[in-house]
Amino acid sequence: MSTDRLESAVQKLKDIGIRMTPQRYAILSFLMDTLSHPTADEIYKELEPQFPSMSVATVYNNLKVFKDAGLVRELTYGDSSSRFDGNTEDHYHCICTSCGKIVDFDYEPLADLEKEAQLSTGFTIATHRLEFYGTCGAC
Ligand code: ZN
Ligand code: MN
Repeated sequence: MSTDRLESAVQKLKDIGIRMTPQRYAILSFLMDTLSHPTADEIYKELEPQFPSMSVATVYNNLKVFKDAGLVRELTYGDSSSRFDGNTEDHYHCICTSCGKIVDFDYEPLADLEKEAQLSTGFTIATHRLEFYGTCGAC
């Protein structure tokens, strides 16, 4: 696991005045360590044995803190629960339509495509999101 990334995330929170608590640290470290893009509920279930007094609301509040600090990306899917990604580097996702698994996929950011979208619509494009749907190797 990337200890450096975790340490620099802890430092970044400290720099913006966010106090580290054992629960906060556990949530952050879990997110930076997993490749599973968990929901808040999944994080809660994972850490609940370690922190029996922790609530799902605590997990949500912390995820919001991390998101606002730019340490975590929230992936929204309409009505279903958001998933959280501890990898904020540019990357894309392959999503299994059978089991819901999300796998990272590295590719050079498609800056040309943003430029093209901008030219053809007059929008000022800030970002884009690209996902691939299909079935994973296990399904
Ligand atoms: Zn699958
Ligand atoms: Mn990802």
